Amino acid sequence: MTTKPVYIVLLGPPGSGKGTQADILQERLGLPHVASGDLFRYNLKNKTPLGLKAKSYMDRGDLVPDDITIAMVLDRLARPDCARGAILDGFPRTIAQAEALDAALADKGLAIDRAVNFVVPDAVIVERITGRRICPVCGATYHVTFNPPKDDNRCDRDGAELYQRDDDKPETVRNRLKVYRELTAPLVDYYRAKAVLVEIDGNRPIEAVTEALLQALQGLLA
Ligand code: ADP
Ligand code: ADP
Repeated sequence: MTTKPVYIVLLGPPGSGKGTQADILQERLGLPHVASGDLFRYNLKNKTPLGLKAKSYMDRGDLVPDDITIAMVLDRLARPDCARGAILDGFPRTIAQAEALDAALADKGLAIDRAVNFVVPDAVIVERITGRRICPVCGATYHVTFNPPKDDNRCDRDGAELYQRDDDKPETVRNRLKVYRELTAPLVDYYRAKAVLVEIDGNRPIEAVTEALLQALQGLLA
């Protein structure tokens, strides 16, 4: 018997810990971490037509248009490694994206199983984002104070020198938070109405958030 694929959506403002937790969940649950931001950055780095289209929006901290974003993520979800489902991080970010995702899943008799909203105050968000550092090789996320690498500014996994994302500068972060409030926050009510929403206090140490998250997902995976 094949088991039904499981889809978990991680919601929350930029910097709320979605990527950090998705990485841990990927290991624990064996489901792929599908991050729209990572897909865009991969395309940007490789100068693909998609990356070039997305660049100006990302530089400003605006959302990339829905049609481009939806096509990119649905294409990713159709790949063989997503046959058992996926952990979605950073997508959907608008009601139109959520509806397109629901429609694509419904076509296969599937649906989102859980949407987890990480609640973190704005002041903490800014501190987290400005201290965020990324590995250019494997995409691992660190924080200069809250989650530093073992070796000064080098990735624990592969030793590559960490970098700061261009859009993690304070001016862009302010716009990203505004965009979040206007376009993405309404998704909390969208998923609440579908009775799949779980809210988690994300303003705690990484391990405590993981524990709450695993509890919220209990029963989803055999
Ligand atoms: P964060 O980790 O801070 O939440 P992401 O890495 O998810 O940020 O996204 C970085 C940028 O990529 C966004 O500011 C936006 O320009 C673009 N992006 C990512 N996901 C989406 C999406 N679902 N819809 C539109 N744009 C997106
Ligand atoms: P998102 O994917 O939601 O944008 P990230 O997972 O990239 O968020 O986290 C943003 C920054 O905050 C990163 O530098 C990360 O190391 C750090 N961080 C993540 N979770 C926590 C936490 N629970 N406590 C303190 N810092 C955290």
